[in-house]
Amino acid sequence: DERQVLQFQLTLYGDDERLLMARDITRLHRLEEMRRDFVANVSHELRTPLTVLAGYLETFGDLADTLPARLAKGVSQMQSQTTRMQNLVDDLLLLSRLEIDRGGHDHGPLDVAAVLESVRRDVQALAGERQTVEVVIDESRRLIGSESEVRSAISNLAFNAVRYAGDGCHIVLRWMPCGDGACVAVEDDGEGIDPVHIPRLTERFYRVDKGRSTATGGTGLGLAIVKHVLLRHDAHLEIDSHPGQGARFRCHFPSSRLRDEAAKAKPPAT
Ligand code: ADP
Repeated sequence: DERQVLQFQLTLYGDDERLLMARDITRLHRLEEMRRDFVANVSHELRTPLTVLAGYLETFGDLADTLPARLAKGVSQMQSQTTRMQNLVDDLLLLSRLEIDRGGHDHGPLDVAAVLESVRRDVQALAGERQTVEVVIDESRRLIGSESEVRSAISNLAFNAVRYAGDGCHIVLRWMPCGDGACVAVEDDGEGIDPVHIPRLTERFYRVDKGRSTATGGTGLGLAIVKHVLLRHDAHLEIDSHPGQGARFRCHFPSSRLRDEAAKAKPPAT
């Protein structure tokens, strides 16, 4: 059966003994596929009713001055909860697409510096006067990847920095060499994270402080999205943080994903 999935495990015992085990994980694989399809379909189906609800609530919101105070407050609560649900559904849908679709069709050489600058503008608008956001570029190579996916990974990291680092912090977005590859780094000098949480941060819905995440508009899916985007770019995430010493998130891209634009622009040798 071409849909059968086998998992092989080779264990070494001492120098000359090996044990090869094969497991049929077809059922597990299909269940996982069904879970992904289900989440993708439900998220998709929820989108339209939520858009209709948000539309009506906007109309009520415009009439707030004419409504009794208690009703106006209720409408405003409904608006914020609807926005929360819309964000959640959008993130669930994006995550399912990243898991289901093999990707790679829209990959081109992309200018990471330009993406960082545009994310900086969005993030600074949210941070206002409370935090400063800076872009530092030390790497000139371009990245072979999907612009929309890479942008969404960087935005998630940068918005997290604004939401969790705290007031008065400085946030730096970098594009820099890392070994023979390159890294996008998002660094802040804020409250930081206890290292016990770090291994679980990229799990869906894992939060250090659930109340705070919800209050700041988090869906609990941001770092899971980052992880999946990076997997699709042969890259990985490294998190380094300590309480009170800020947080550093580094996305490592291998050299096979980089293009030297200057070299490409050179005229062919005669
Ligand atoms: P959320 O929607 O809760 O932000 P994420 O997956 O994006 O979900 O992040 C998971 C958790 O990681 C957050 O709830 C927060 O506790 C922690 N976190 C992420 N970025 C930072 C940061 N820059 N500083 C401190 N904590 C962070």
